Amino acid sequence: MSSSTADELKAPGGESAAKSTAVRVAKTGSEPVAKTPIAEPEPEPEPETLAESPPEPAVFHAPRPSLFIVHITPEMAPVAKIGGLADVVFGLSRELAIRGNHVEIILPKYDNLRYDQIFELQPVYNDLWVPWYEGAIHCTVYFGFVHDRKCFFIEPHSQDNFFNRGSVYGFPDDVFRYAFFSRAAIEFLWQSGKHPDIIHCHDWQTALVPVFLYEFYQRLGMTHPRVCLTIHNFKHQGVTGTELLRATGLHQPERFCDWHRMGDNQHKNALNMLKGGVVYSNFVTTVSPRYAFETKDQGQGFGLESTLHTHHMKYGGVVNGIDYDVWNPEIDRYIPVRYGLGNIDDKYQNKRALRQRLMLADNEKPIVAFIGRLDPQKGLELVRHAIFATLERGAQFVLLGSSPDQGINNDFWGLKHMLNDSPDCHLEIGFDEDLSHLIYAGADIMLVPSQFEPCGLTQLIALRYGTIPVVRTVGGLADTVFDKDHSDRPLHQRNGYRFDNYDAPGLESALIRAIDCYYQYPEHFRELMRNAMRADYSWNHPGQDYLNIYDFIRDR
Ligand code: ADP
Repeated sequence: MSSSTADELKAPGGESAAKSTAVRVAKTGSEPVAKTPIAEPEPEPEPETLAESPPEPAVFHAPRPSLFIVHITPEMAPVAKIGGLADVVFGLSRELAIRGNHVEIILPKYDNLRYDQIFELQPVYNDLWVPWYEGAIHCTVYFGFVHDRKCFFIEPHSQDNFFNRGSVYGFPDDVFRYAFFSRAAIEFLWQSGKHPDIIHCHDWQTALVPVFLYEFYQRLGMTHPRVCLTIHNFKHQGVTGTELLRATGLHQPERFCDWHRMGDNQHKNALNMLKGGVVYSNFVTTVSPRYAFETKDQGQGFGLESTLHTHHMKYGGVVNGIDYDVWNPEIDRYIPVRYGLGNIDDKYQNKRALRQRLMLADNEKPIVAFIGRLDPQKGLELVRHAIFATLERGAQFVLLGSSPDQGINNDFWGLKHMLNDSPDCHLEIGFDEDLSHLIYAGADIMLVPSQFEPCGLTQLIALRYGTIPVVRTVGGLADTVFDKDHSDRPLHQRNGYRFDNYDAPGLESALIRAIDCYYQYPEHFRELMRNAMRADYSWNHPGQDYLNIYDFIRDR
């Protein structure tokens, strides 16, 4: 990095960003195209009447230099999975590796890691001392493979017991636990002499990494790495008091509490770790272009809107991919009968299996499903309404979900008891990955009525299984589901149903159309299924998009 660029980065507030030109995340090709900012949703193309997909143009990837990329993350599937972030790190890291890059991942060494999924785990660095308050904490770093991914796990030895607590999140000192982890990760890179081209951080938990890089380590000679921060959900930001500055050695409250750096936009005298990440990173992504737009311009940024505006030239959205080795009805080992575009009818054997497993009546009705965390974000009032609307319209309903909030769980248990005698409804309160595969394969319609949805994996998985999504037009749902009747997309790209208004009539306007289409126009419904299964939501495109971003920030 040239010193002038470094200085600009060390004077946050958008100066360097404003001079830069945002990269347009190209869908294909290896060259980043310096063009317009990418946060706005793409206008939908003019309608066409093509019934079949036109042939894909051949794509030639020019040879490109291999990059050394380090992900620093609080989660990765399957060893430490809480939400979609874990799947993203797992899927993206492999996509980057198979494209010839060297990829490493740094995680906390939680006591509740899935150790059965880590191979050849061994200590590789015994003498990592990480500055903390006035002293330093001794850490051991382990290395192991997680399904071929090269992972380092940091284990601190201190009375704080940061990562030996039986679960990943939910502690009053979470902010300190992850501030420490962030400091330890970059200290490890520094002490072990690693010089990655790209450090890729995830969410507020690791958002201090770029702050540490540009405030401490650059001065020590760590001038090479550039930082990309991906924000998976703006709801959680790591807002805390100035004690954090003492712990991390940042000191200088007047500097860091400043509005241009880490001063929270809503709470006076509070620090915001995610904001620090936005200000100091070389590029910031979120997990869909529409969510990028909503968080910056539609009041969905949980207070960070003005910061995103200041830094809009280095902000954009990339839709997540899904792992087609795991989510693929042609090879899925959790479903009784495998199927693909060539034998779609075999899907109905899975429907029968699902009914048997959940003791639902075997009849001609379509099955509407919901799979997800029972969190208000997921539109729980509408889920509840959809259960009754579905049954009234002559369809079946299956729900799989759970919540850490006992009150919400109890509500759904109450609903389950109320509907216990219905042969057309089953609510499964709990987390069950195996059952989720059978539901994706056996259901006809997948409901995702979220209040907000940064990307959403449920609809992407459903599409792959030919299960037609009915979604609210928000975030990643709007970027990936195109309405059968109202989209401007060509016919062959329409793959589901959408509604705008977050209310019962809004929901019904899409759900009823889907159920009616199943009954009255089965050939149209079948066409939707084919469109859904044909679409490519693997890591192929997002992998290239991230490489374009990496190239863009490395050149600056
Ligand atoms: P979020 O990250 O907000 O929870 P996403 O749609 O991005 O939502 O990812 C949810 C993932 O978790 C999907 O793969 C979904 O199948 C899975 N999932 C959610 N709830 C359950 C559950 N109760 N049992 C099994 N899988 C679940």
